[in-house]
Amino acid sequence: MNVPIRNHDIAELKRLDLAHHLPAQADHKVIAELGGSRIITRADGCYIHDGEGHTILDGMAGLWCVNVGYGREELAKAAYEQMLELPYYNTFFKTATPPTVRLAAKIAEKMGGDLSHVFFNSSGSEANDTVFRLARHYWKLKGEPQRTVFISRWNAYHGSTVAGVSLGGMKHMHVQGDLPIPGVEHVRQPYGFGEGFGEDPDAFAEACVQAIEDKILEVGPEKVAAFIGEPVQGAGGVIIPPEGYWPKVEALCRKYGILLVCDEVICGFGRLGHWFGHQGYGIKPDMIAMAKGLSSGYLPISAVGVADHIVAELKEKGGDFIHGFTYSGHPTCAAVAIANIEIMEREGLIERTRTDTGPYLAKALARLNDHPLVGETRSRGLLGAVEIVREKGTNLRFLDKEGEAGPIVRDICIRNGLMVRGIRDTIVCCPPLIITHAQIDELVDIIGRSLTEAEPILR
Ligand code: PLP
Repeated sequence: MNVPIRNHDIAELKRLDLAHHLPAQADHKVIAELGGSRIITRADGCYIHDGEGHTILDGMAGLWCVNVGYGREELAKAAYEQMLELPYYNTFFKTATPPTVRLAAKIAEKMGGDLSHVFFNSSGSEANDTVFRLARHYWKLKGEPQRTVFISRWNAYHGSTVAGVSLGGMKHMHVQGDLPIPGVEHVRQPYGFGEGFGEDPDAFAEACVQAIEDKILEVGPEKVAAFIGEPVQGAGGVIIPPEGYWPKVEALCRKYGILLVCDEVICGFGRLGHWFGHQGYGIKPDMIAMAKGLSSGYLPISAVGVADHIVAELKEKGGDFIHGFTYSGHPTCAAVAIANIEIMEREGLIERTRTDTGPYLAKALARLNDHPLVGETRSRGLLGAVEIVREKGTNLRFLDKEGEAGPIVRDICIRNGLMVRGIRDTIVCCPPLIITHAQIDELVDIIGRSLTEAEPILR
């Protein structure tokens, strides 16, 4: 279906934006200086279009979420039909709706193993709040109520609610709002380029895992409820751990009887070439949080996958788990998520990411290794990063601009027609899973060109 292109009064929209809108995760002074937000008016496939006539390759899949690309009529139809039949009903009153139940079964099939149940929410942050409350509830039911502490990593991102920010390890977020809340401890991240430069990857993995064990012993193993981590840290800068890291973390959790939680909000639904990122590392978490790619961002929906032994406690011991949201299991969101998963199945997007476009992105990014500003390129599936350095062969950053190189290069990329993110001194990308080889070349070429343009500004 061709949707007619609507004409928007962009000047008026920018005026209204400044007068009434507070955009998320933004410096509102900077937006005011820019004369208002960039107004994105439409999108198709892998491209977004703004009100000033720019077409931009969306190297971020929106916000790490539009896995099946833009303009999917099938998803609009699923929402339309569900809204006419039953737009909304809740799951509080011992009730459920057909799409909610069908989606739960579909996700269970993709998770496999003993992750057989899901709890629905609307956002990734809410999914992690659910993890937080469910883990503590579980340990109470198990007769170990003192197990309340979560261990997470510095520079992890687990959302923007009070629990999400606390579980996350972003110090600049902790500062706003006196966080983390008690009961969350942070340990070093497995960031090889930044913190293990030149070290043997196995030894570095071992050291990172040792830091977790040290923390467990410091807190007291009997007090630790869970360890939480993204299979690959996304918003932290696409930090891909050394291969041995996750199996060792899993073994540690088993050793001390601690729950292992994977935050799959970015890594889930094909991003790393598997339905869930942990599957590629061969580990078996007790809970997983998912959102974003679950509906490809077409409607807000998230879920927590829960292992049988946790569900067994809930079902055997009984008593209310007093947690949930008005929109938990929202039928229209669920109907869209089902249709989204069906697209991924039909088009083989997971397989294609693992065997074709993911490896192609890795090779294309490797072309940038010759660039004088590039310290490392890395990727897993369709999640990629380029490290910007002052001196080749080192991980040294630009002295007076440490932490700023990413945003500087990002702005140039956007001017050159590519949306990426600049996280400190790293450029990251996360394109829709439908991206073609030619579009990957376009993405990498624009990053290369933009780095060259940035060099005189940075040096
Ligand atoms: N967890 C991870 C790994 C994320 O990347 C995000 C968002 O980027 C969240 C949680 C929070 O999701 P939301 O913004 O939907 O609350």
